[in-house]
Amino acid sequence: AKSSGRDAACLFDVSIDQVVHERQMLEQHLKSALEHQEFTLLYQPKIDAQTGQMVGVEALLRWYNPELGQVPPSRFIPVAEETGLIKPIGTWVLQQACAQWSAWRDAGYGHWVMAINLSAVQLADPGLLDLLRSYIVQYRCEPSQLELEITESHLMHNSHLAVGTLQAIKELGVMLSIDDFGTGYSSLAYLKRFPIDKLKIDQSFVRDMLDDPADMAIVRATIALGHELGLRLVGEGVENQGQAQQLTALGCEELQGYFFARPLDSNSLVQWAGVQRH
Ligand code: C2E
Ligand code: CA
Ligand code: CA
Ligand code: CA
Repeated sequence: AKSSGRDAACLFDVSIDQVVHERQMLEQHLKSALEHQEFTLLYQPKIDAQTGQMVGVEALLRWYNPELGQVPPSRFIPVAEETGLIKPIGTWVLQQACAQWSAWRDAGYGHWVMAINLSAVQLADPGLLDLLRSYIVQYRCEPSQLELEITESHLMHNSHLAVGTLQAIKELGVMLSIDDFGTGYSSLAYLKRFPIDKLKIDQSFVRDMLDDPADMAIVRATIALGHELGLRLVGEGVENQGQAQQLTALGCEELQGYFFARPLDSNSLVQWAGVQRH
């Protein structure tokens, strides 16, 4: 028992070492990931709760490195944000998503909305607006068919900067949504200050809403609040029919989750959408 304290301290040191080491590994491989074309985008359908039709997709970044294998975004996005690598990576995502939307439009799917996740680092970048504008022009995108998803905590940390940038994005005609709503360090007053179109109810609330009255209350209140403010609601992480039905009954406009489809590559998505329609 006496040595356990020392053992614990020792274990602790080792694990810190491992964390630092893993981080350095990630960072090192992340630096060359763009030039080695190791990134791809997958697209997860968003469903109109009333009609059951697919109304758009969320673009989700994937990284495959030959040495590390498939690395989930929850592991590499924070490293990319800390090192500044999220800037070129985020630019690639923006360009790739605009190019893909354009290809879908040419194939007759111009009614699909492309939602793109935006990091706080990108939002704080004064060059973001020009970048967005230039891709819209280059790929002849319909601004109203593009949507940017921003997490609440990101908004809070940049609130002074964010209002101006978000306003300018709005003026381009691009839609804005707050991601993971309910999990940030939010003041509800921000909902009034930011020119947003949609709230995405965080999947942690959706997951337990049928079993946990507290989660149900949060979902219900979020939908009511969003509607009072004239916003559309998106339920994320819908994994079963019960959740889909409950969210629909509460008036949630859009649904997204494994119950409908996992994130798909562009070919599989077009195929999936075709099957859904018939
Ligand atoms: P997010 O924006 O909240 O994206 C939703 C995440 O939930 C995705 O994880 C998606 O695959 C997963 N998901 C979707 N439906 C279900 C479901 O029914 N059940 C469960 N359990 N999960 C579901 P993913 O792709 O691993 O992405 C994780 C996070 O990484 C994203 O969370 C987003 O914050 C970030 N991310 C992904 N792509 C990008 C990107 O291009 N740029 C930036 N800045 N962040 C990104
Ligand atoms: Ca998102
Ligand atoms: Ca989310
Ligand atoms: Ca819970």
